[in-house]
Amino acid sequence: MNELELKIKELEDKLSTSKLEVERVMEEQHEAAKLLIRRDLALSRANEQLQALDEAKSDFISVAAHQLRTPLSAIKWIIHMLEHDEFKDASERVDFIKKASQSTDRMIGLVNDLLEVDHIQSGKDKFIFSNVNIADLLNSLYSELNELADNRNISFKINAPASLEIKGDVTKLRALFQNLIENSIKYTLPGGFVSVDVVEEGEGIKIIVKDNGIGIPDNQKINIFSKFFRAQNALKLETVGSGLGLFIAKQIVDRHGGKMAFESKVGQGTTFIVGLPKKTDTQ
Ligand code: ADP
Repeated sequence: MNELELKIKELEDKLSTSKLEVERVMEEQHEAAKLLIRRDLALSRANEQLQALDEAKSDFISVAAHQLRTPLSAIKWIIHMLEHDEFKDASERVDFIKKASQSTDRMIGLVNDLLEVDHIQSGKDKFIFSNVNIADLLNSLYSELNELADNRNISFKINAPASLEIKGDVTKLRALFQNLIENSIKYTLPGGFVSVDVVEEGEGIKIIVKDNGIGIPDNQKINIFSKFFRAQNALKLETVGSGLGLFIAKQIVDRHGGKMAFESKVGQGTTFIVGLPKKTDTQ
């Protein structure tokens, strides 16, 4: 090989090394670009989730504010009438003061439900698990709820085996069954019945809250556990409610590792079935 050929060979080798180097850099840039696109996609997804969360929060605030406005307006109006002594007589004044007091109770109930929803959703809510005797828990609810049932001329029975215990948060479980039973009483017409039965089933128990009330329309069943949802027939009945009770109830059942289902027929009644494990994974 003469000197010129050697030079050419050397240049060719250099060229091929440079070509390899350029290819390697291009490959690296391609990978970096792919990574950037992936990051960009992840960022837009996170952004969309944040926006959805933000919208859900402002919807929540807006519905809550609307729900508070009705009882507040009623109270304002009654205070105005008191101020200007606009009542026919003393008995009408007492009636309206009672109405104002009911509106106040409604607002307190709603604010408590809102705080509970916020607590549960933010994860601030601590569940304290201990042994809970289900019959004791339900019987402790009986006297106050039976008064409610009596006032509406509704028969109310509880059947629970005496020694059945589960692991649960007693305060939350009480709130859960209070809500289901109060709903049954509220959405059942005078002369009807509400029953609560507890049965043992393998590793768990089932609590069955049954009524022969107004029922839940088929086309609205899908929304029943959503926040603020109230079915049309319940609204027509002019019962007081926030539409938050079942949402909270469902979260309580979930946190106990349980399941909640219901069956309902308009005009015939509703049955809520809560299945709870005797021992939970969350304890
Ligand atoms: P509310 O404060 O309106 O009672 P809930 O979240 O407890 O709110 O219940 C949501 C809706 O589910 C009620 O407004 C009602 O339409 C329906 N519902 C719940 N329980 C019953 C029942 N036992 N019978 C008929 N409808 C019911």
